[in-house]
Amino acid sequence: MHTTSNHARTLTLILAAAAALTLPFWASDQYQLHLAALIAVYWILISGLNIVVGFTGQLSIGHVGLLSIGAYGFCILAGKMELNPYLALAISGGLGGICGLALGLPSLRLPGFYFAMATMAFALIVNEIILAQVDLTGGGIGLVGPLFTAPFDTPSGFYYLVALLAGFATWLTWNIARSMWGKGLIAIRDNPVTAQAVGVPVFRAKLVAFVFSGVLAGVSGGLFASLQSYITPDTFVFELSMFFFVCIIIGGRGSIVGPFLGTVVLTALPEMVASLAKLGNFFYGLLLLVVVLVIPEGIGRMLQLIYERIKPREIESIPIQPDVKGLIQTLSDTVSEGGPIQVEHISKHFGGVAALDDVSLTLAPGEIHGLIGPNGSGKTTMLNLLSGYYEPSSGDMLYRGQDFGASTVQQRARMGIARTFQKPRLLPELTVLENAMVGAWSESTSGFMASAFALPGVRIEDRFLRERAAQLLVGVGLGGVMHRRANLLDHAQQRFLEIARGLALRPRFILLDEPAGGLTSVEIEHLGAVIRAISLSGIGVLLVEHHTDFVFRVCDKVTALNVGRMIQHGTSDQVRHDPEVIRVYLGA
Ligand code: ADP
Ligand code: MG
Repeated sequence: MHTTSNHARTLTLILAAAAALTLPFWASDQYQLHLAALIAVYWILISGLNIVVGFTGQLSIGHVGLLSIGAYGFCILAGKMELNPYLALAISGGLGGICGLALGLPSLRLPGFYFAMATMAFALIVNEIILAQVDLTGGGIGLVGPLFTAPFDTPSGFYYLVALLAGFATWLTWNIARSMWGKGLIAIRDNPVTAQAVGVPVFRAKLVAFVFSGVLAGVSGGLFASLQSYITPDTFVFELSMFFFVCIIIGGRGSIVGPFLGTVVLTALPEMVASLAKLGNFFYGLLLLVVVLVIPEGIGRMLQLIYERIKPREIESIPIQPDVKGLIQTLSDTVSEGGPIQVEHISKHFGGVAALDDVSLTLAPGEIHGLIGPNGSGKTTMLNLLSGYYEPSSGDMLYRGQDFGASTVQQRARMGIARTFQKPRLLPELTVLENAMVGAWSESTSGFMASAFALPGVRIEDRFLRERAAQLLVGVGLGGVMHRRANLLDHAQQRFLEIARGLALRPRFILLDEPAGGLTSVEIEHLGAVIRAISLSGIGVLLVEHHTDFVFRVCDKVTALNVGRMIQHGTSDQVRHDPEVIRVYLGA
């Protein structure tokens, strides 16, 4: 299956490259060549914007502002100041990046809608500034877009230059998409809580992606000015920004081919079909409406579905079948020195409610610690405190003699605290293997730019993390469904995948929130075997669970809570026979 899809991809790539390279020979007139160059120039911007919108889920509608900054930068540098045009183009890219940083820093912390508004305001302000700075920008009259030097000064020469740069931009974004960064960005888009849990620095990752898109927008702007040979503020209308955005939405999020086809179709169609051009924005609006209603996941996903239709995949159910020995083998690289986590007299209040009140417990490496109690007794709150989603109202959490109660979720991930969620939080559009790999995010040392250029170190690390994630999946019993999209998993498989993702973090401690919820008795047996294997590897386990038989069977120590207070703690036997525990929780 995998190789066939790779062959199909390679063939498509070769055909597309051949078509692009020979275009000047078969284009029927200069106008078609101009159109092809325009598509390439737009795509350089859109490929970067795609990382921001399609992968990270940040709805920027202001990229036309970055385009015009690049365009004016290029005209001023290469035209007025007569700088070498290639150097001027590089500086335009730098300008785009700097302005991306200046826009992203204050706005990327805003929730989605406000972020979109901030980018729109940015585009409007840029246009006003350009209009006002008459001496520099020519105001309403505009500036001449300089040509590049030979051999790129003819229409076909220029076409080859932009096609080359567009191919390069595609390669960069494709590398990012398949790297750990790409998975981290998708996690930010689809499940920010998971992104934090695996250690993705959410704000910084958004910012890096945005600056990257700014550089490409700046380069695109310089090329755009040269192609149009004359620019005025009227060239950079806000509709152009909407056009970029629509290309990506129509193409489909999380895809590169889709938005590229979106760019080709949306640029070429209105130009080729005169009646469509007259419709203008109405045409884009209509197309957007049709796509959102008929194929909401966009062209990219539609192609994938057609491909799967031609070559249907068996979606037979594959039972979970852990390989405990293999799991222990894979986890043998666990570092278990470092001692226990000590939770001392912790309390957590929400308004007047004490979700936890003066609770203490110790998580030792290699020990399975059960946490039981009726609904609402504060079990999940304890997990949220340990993994950093909540800050304690009072009390200490100590590891290696240091209080880590105030550290961030990402810092806990790097400390080696992994967790699963009471309601599984997977990334539905990624495969099972990719979901497990995301868990290793904090272990990855690859930088964003190193990933964009797919440097050898990045490739080696990627192969290693993929291999280890695959071994973990086989270990917990999901080897047979590794290449399925996670949204095709049944409930039990989702729970086991959450555990595999947690283990990919290479944890010292793993916190499991009701992992047996909704499992059959056979699956619970498998879960028990997996949890024992985890603890045998030296990892400390905190097990929150309602299946008390199961808890008393697998746990070394148990803490029982009731409405936020600790009512008993000790060995399984001590707690199981405690009269108070029986009265409030176990029943007679
Ligand atoms: P459990 O997991 O044991 O069922 P929880 O830890 O989820 O219990 O909840 C314990 C108590 O804390 C409940 O009364 C719940 O309503 C309250 N609580 C938990 N999280 C919050 C929150 N973010 N805001 C307000 N109350 C909360
Ligand atoms: Mg809970």
